[in-house]
Amino acid sequence: MVDCPVCLTKKEDEDKLIATIKTEDGMVVVPKEHVAILEQTPDEVVGAMFAKANIVLLQMFEKGLQGANLILNNGVTAGQTLPHVALQLVERSENDGLFPLWQPKQLPEDAMNQIQEKMTEAIQAVDSGPVEEKPKVESKPKSKDEEKKENAFMRRVFRRVP
Ligand SMILES: [Zn+2]
Repeated sequence: MVDCPVCLTKKEDEDKLIATIKTEDGMVVVPKEHVAILEQTPDEVVGAMFAKANIVLLQMFEKGLQGANLILNNGVTAGQTLPHVALQLVERSENDGLFPLWQPKQLPEDAMNQIQEKMTEAIQAVDSGPVEEKPKVESKPKSKDEEKKENAFMRRVFRRVP
């Protein structure tokens, strides 16, 4: 899209589907092709966005990051300010004062029931729809060294402050 600030930003990532952009507030992962909302975003692009976020965060955890929020504001009423889908990575540290991001709110019982009905209908519609065969990813067997490294890494990750 011509007027989209995300599309106008120069992206040098090698990935053909997604790009990462550094902002004043941290990093965002965006689709390279213009998509306004999550529902328009192809599944493979959504997957690539979260996979990239995971890779970035794993590197940051190795350097001492304690936690992160992944925020995707989907729709103007949900706080979306860009005309382009963006997954924002928010670095977190103990006592950073950011938590909780939202104040808890108790909805009336009838409003909760309506939301539950809508979600149940949406889930049933997805469950009863045609099942699309996803390509299987072949994984090669891991060597003992790779398994040791992965286990050591997972022990470190699970010890970090949630
Ligand atoms: Zn765009």
